[in-house]
Amino acid sequence: MSVILVSNDDGVHSPGIIALYRAMKSLGEAYIVAPDRERSATSHSLTLHRPLKAEEIRLNVFCINGTPTDCVTLGINKLLPEKPALIVSGINKGANLGDDVTYSGTVAAAIEGTIYGIPSISFSLVNDGHHHYHFETASYFASKITSFVLKNSLPYDTLLNVNIPNLRKEEICGIKFTRQGKRIYDNSIQETYSPWGEKHYWIGGGNPFWERGEDTDIETVKANFISITPIHLDMTNYDALSFLNEKWSMPDTKDNRFEKKL
Ligand SMILES: [Mg+2]
Repeated sequence: MSVILVSNDDGVHSPGIIALYRAMKSLGEAYIVAPDRERSATSHSLTLHRPLKAEEIRLNVFCINGTPTDCVTLGINKLLPEKPALIVSGINKGANLGDDVTYSGTVAAAIEGTIYGIPSISFSLVNDGHHHYHFETASYFASKITSFVLKNSLPYDTLLNVNIPNLRKEEICGIKFTRQGKRIYDNSIQETYSPWGEKHYWIGGGNPFWERGEDTDIETVKANFISITPIHLDMTNYDALSFLNEKWSMPDTKDNRFEKKL
């Protein structure tokens, strides 16, 4: 039986992680290592300046007073009986599409697994929070995709970011491989006041605008398909690297006129 680590950023009590854990138990020896509370939008942060506590709240279910990245690294190195064969993260209560992946703790847990060389997948349910969450649909397809990855592994340094439309299973039109789209939020910082009249700012909400493009993750879920985006950890822009090497001549740093030239 393969050891599977299940984490998330919505916290250990989220219905999404319970659904994913149940699905993983049919594929291997599953363990939850997850934050003790919601840590959405914590990205890939690691807790360095205080100790962390891991509590086994049920058999094979650990909660940690830290971030998703803390959970994955402690899971791999300290809590699980052996190095896991696979890491899954989610099922997140809401999409992780376009540039939002850079803020996402759900995706960061899969990034951490990938850094350790372990095939890793993040799962998110595309819901604006105003509708019933179809976790049964998401966990069904999470199980199918995970089973495929367990048999076939993943390309080097690459995780899968999976977004599932919030629909009944029979309403899903299919699965597509996609590229990461672009989403920009307009008017997403609200001004508010404390009871003492001090102005505060609250980031969140706003109107999302997205780049059009049939092959993007965003368009794909809007068309009721499951989106699977392969994400590479090497963020180097190789075209830009070639361009810079070819076109930009940087001044010689040994030249004492360096500062003037730059
Ligand atoms: Mg979340």
